[in-house]
Amino acid sequence: VICNILCVGTELLLGQIVDTNSSFIAEQLADAGIESYEQRTVGDNPQRIAHVLTSMLGSADAVIVTGGLGPTHDDITREVVAEMMGVELHVDENVMTHMKSIFERRNKDMPESNMRQAMVPEGATVIMNALGTAPGLICPVADKFVYLTPGVPHEMKPMVTESIIDHITKQQSDQHVIVTRTLKSWGLSESELADMLADFVEEGESGSVKIGFLARGINGIYIKLSTSAPTHKDAEILIEPVEIRILEMLADHIYATDDETMETIVIDLLQKRSLKLAIAESLTGGMISSRLVDPAGASDVLLGCVVAYDPAVKNNVLEVKVEDVYSDECAQQMADGVRKHLGADIAISTTGVAGPGPDDGHPQGEVFIGISTKEKTFSQQLRLGGDRQRVREYATISAMNLLRQFLLNSEVASS
Ligand code: ATP
Ligand code: MG
Repeated sequence: VICNILCVGTELLLGQIVDTNSSFIAEQLADAGIESYEQRTVGDNPQRIAHVLTSMLGSADAVIVTGGLGPTHDDITREVVAEMMGVELHVDENVMTHMKSIFERRNKDMPESNMRQAMVPEGATVIMNALGTAPGLICPVADKFVYLTPGVPHEMKPMVTESIIDHITKQQSDQHVIVTRTLKSWGLSESELADMLADFVEEGESGSVKIGFLARGINGIYIKLSTSAPTHKDAEILIEPVEIRILEMLADHIYATDDETMETIVIDLLQKRSLKLAIAESLTGGMISSRLVDPAGASDVLLGCVVAYDPAVKNNVLEVKVEDVYSDECAQQMADGVRKHLGADIAISTTGVAGPGPDDGHPQGEVFIGISTKEKTFSQQLRLGGDRQRVREYATISAMNLLRQFLLNSEVASS
């Protein structure tokens, strides 16, 4: 099946809002193995919506439309689609009840204009909207389908993931289940990754499992595996050996799988070893700490963070002795200092030049990451590219990654 994506809204054409709906839907379609040929945006104009929609249905089996389901006079998507279906609109009692209950909960009278949102084309199926008033609609147009969703991203998303993708997949004549896996890598370039996997891919060892790369900025490069089979179990049997081989080849360059993130993995490793972490940050200014408190469970392992930005704080609070704050020694002394000060088992630190421009004879992007335990203190020097913001973000993820690799490969005694 092929499914195209259409966004409706004059604000999109005027650049007042950025279209994030298309990329979200496109990713869901790709993950489900559904092809897509076109994405377009059209203003709130009935003739042009009808024209574009007809053209997009021509090259596909289905079109997902977002936007234009609101209560105002410029929200006209449902009327246009009813006309394409050649049917009338009628009031759907379930939707009406749902909308009334929303307004009752908010202690407000329902404005007359909201009635329009309970209007459903004859023959269309309603997708209830748990988070708002306008329902989604599954509309048969000749032998194809048009799916209507609200423009508001958090209302649209569950409709796509919980109802529409399933509905499209069921239209497939040869029913197949798609299984995907995302392996997240850090520290290698896309070409290095491609080289490391070249033999494996060229010799056809991956069989029917497709392998793709996706650059994700500070989240590294994702390796996407996907395959289809008649049942979920069959697909798992195909994908699993490929995943295992790639994990062997790339070893600890893979930091996480699917929904895991760098921070959930680091917190998890610390938790399993019952280790308490302390952090000292200079150029990252608390960014490592902020990311590590994100996952639930952080409170079990993270003691605290000292943002030692000024050299005087490095010196007074963390007992850094070395003069040059852009040095391995400084990173190590910061890590030692914060570990002792907070009574942690392990500590991590950052110092370096975020920029703009060089400082004290050190180039922008020169960064030092320190790690300290009772048994061992060491540091790593990095040269990061990009502007001030990018240097700080890359330093943050690099520090978490160094901590992850260290925890995987060494014994650390907990107190
Ligand atoms: P509403 O009931 O809120 O009017 P609607 O279905 O009519 O919903 P729109 O009026 O088109 O949808 O958009 C509502 C809001 O949703 C917009 O103001 C915008 O913030 C957001 N939105 C709409 N389309 C997109 C899109 N393609 N990408 C991201 N956000 C969008
Ligand atoms: Mg609207």
